[in-house]
Amino acid sequence: MMDFSQTLINKSDAIVEQWVEAVYQDEQIEATKELTFKAVRDSLPRVLKALATVLSESEKSDLQTVVDASLEHGLLRAEQGFEPAEIAREYRLLRFIIFSFLEEDLLKASSLELLRAVRLIDTVIDEAIARCFNSYTHGRLQELEQLQSQLRLTNQELTRLVRASKDSLSQLAHELKTPLTSIIGYADLFLRQQRQNPELKDSHSNLESIERVMKSGRLILRLINDTLEISRYDAGRMILQPTVIDVRELINSVIEIIEPLARNKELSLIVDCERAPNQVTTDPLRVQQILTNLLSNAIRYTESGTVSLQCYQESEQTWAVSITDTGLGIALEAQSQIFQPYFRAVSEQQASDSQGTGLGLAIVSRLVQLLHGEIKVDSQLGKGSTFTVILPL
Ligand code: ADP
Repeated sequence: MMDFSQTLINKSDAIVEQWVEAVYQDEQIEATKELTFKAVRDSLPRVLKALATVLSESEKSDLQTVVDASLEHGLLRAEQGFEPAEIAREYRLLRFIIFSFLEEDLLKASSLELLRAVRLIDTVIDEAIARCFNSYTHGRLQELEQLQSQLRLTNQELTRLVRASKDSLSQLAHELKTPLTSIIGYADLFLRQQRQNPELKDSHSNLESIERVMKSGRLILRLINDTLEISRYDAGRMILQPTVIDVRELINSVIEIIEPLARNKELSLIVDCERAPNQVTTDPLRVQQILTNLLSNAIRYTESGTVSLQCYQESEQTWAVSITDTGLGIALEAQSQIFQPYFRAVSEQQASDSQGTGLGLAIVSRLVQLLHGEIKVDSQLGKGSTFTVILPL
């Protein structure tokens, strides 16, 4: 009987490299866009080694190694934000690559050996997928529980807010209605399906329900946190911590966070700090928050073209940052309202797709005031927008 596992072991480096490359390049696996090559590779060599050991005739066959490696793989992919379909695709690519490496060996085998080899490889890979999904679901459920306990905590602070301000609360309640309805709907569907058919626990549609629940949960959490941030400012409880900072360093740290978002939408991100002051005295966290908000808006509302940031000394007493995009633009009559909480200048559908809260600019304008600065918008519908923040040196 032939032992094709030896080929797998001998060529494991090449197989892993080809696998990682295929996963990384696959257009249908979007989660890798924000990951480094190393992060994608991380648990794959172990999965392959486990598969090769189990398939080997000479070693004692122990499925437990595949189970362990796949569990670890599933947890990692849950953390990295993979969708279930993307994991399934990852294993499909592996199956394809394994067979292409074994082709020569398999063609030399008898039909019986060939049949046995194909069956065995399929069984082991199927087992790996099942285990991987299992731990993936587990990872996602844990995240869901964390989200729930965070929601509970913010809820307590929200209760205090109710007493302070009735108006903003009714507005918030209105904003929470859509994501909450979706959380309840999908969670209910998930539980009902599971009750009717417990074996379905890890099925694709259930995993997708969990994804939707989490997406809405995260949005609610952001809505609540942003509202609390505004209420903290309005109650005069936001305190500045000014220090002397290196402007370029601060901008670079923001760009590092934002860069994957721009790459994801294939927008070019241009930074010009040539005329920036070297040092200023300000609260770095607040400035970071302002720039992150403006840059993510610029990316969110731009489908193609460029997002650019320019930092320069504006006068003897002031410095400025301008963020320009080639996106949707904002109609003149909406420009005075975009700094109001919950105001969205886009259609309901676009607003819901963008996963925004309608609070970003309201927070930005408050932070700019807190820093004794000024914010200006210059925009043309269909052409793009420029937001400029002017701050004291
Ligand atoms: P959101 O979470 O909806 O992005 P913001 O308060 O950040 O909330 O922005 C309010 C509205 O202003 C957005 O819904 C959008 O209509 C508009 N807007 C903000 N930034 C831009 C931009 N760079 N280009 C076009 N429209 C924008």
